[in-house]
Amino acid sequence: MAGNLHRMLAEIALEVELTQSAIGRTALDERVMQALAEVRRDLFVPPELRAHAFDNGPLPIGCGQTISQPYMVALMTDLLELEPEHTVLEIGTGSGYQTAVLARLCRQAYSVELEAELSTAAASRLAEQGYDNVETRSGDGYAGWPEHAPYDGIIVTAAAPFIPPALLEQLRPGGRLVIPVGPPLQHQELMLIHKDLSGKTHSRDLLGVAFVPLRSTSRHGGSEHTH
Ligand code: SAH
Repeated sequence: MAGNLHRMLAEIALEVELTQSAIGRTALDERVMQALAEVRRDLFVPPELRAHAFDNGPLPIGCGQTISQPYMVALMTDLLELEPEHTVLEIGTGSGYQTAVLARLCRQAYSVELEAELSTAAASRLAEQGYDNVETRSGDGYAGWPEHAPYDGIIVTAAAPFIPPALLEQLRPGGRLVIPVGPPLQHQELMLIHKDLSGKTHSRDLLGVAFVPLRSTSRHGGSEHTH
């Protein structure tokens, strides 16, 4: 397993180099790479796919969803520029893998997932592994999680047709939002939005990506649970 993990980290570093002109950095923060080295990705994928857990690619996790490619997890985490005292909000908990990476880099991570089944499974997976600075909830991520706002960083791990206004509102001045924006199942653009201290937002398109869609739902309230 150590060999596979080492190869995964080397592939992330190589892909960062290959995309450096688009992403504006030649290497990722060492703390981010350390977090990727520490999280057991094999514990976040279905047992029958464990042999592929350290491949640098997405994998199916049930409910028609995927755990993102490790390079994408590393890059999006790096773009948030998290500090140890920060709080972060993730939309799209999925397997909980990205949540675990975030939890290692900041004080508190919150994560919202539309599929109750995935949310429950991720919550128990994270608790079993001792991540005690994580709170998850099943619900619609378009609304963010206003109770714990504002956040120093917000990461959306599914593609939205537009930037959900609630997420911009819940971002602290000085904070960063990373989100793939574009039509589902087509080319989307990974965007980095920085809210400056005066509250003005500045956005940058970084590179073309392919994410599962951030699904919209009219089911607000009702079936939501906190874990
Ligand atoms: N971060 C995850 C990747 C999950 S894929 C990981 O590391 O495994 C994106 C996830 O977004 C899916 O689980 C999908 O169910 C969820 N999702 C889709 N639409 C959503 C919405 N409106 N609100 C919250 N989650 C949503």
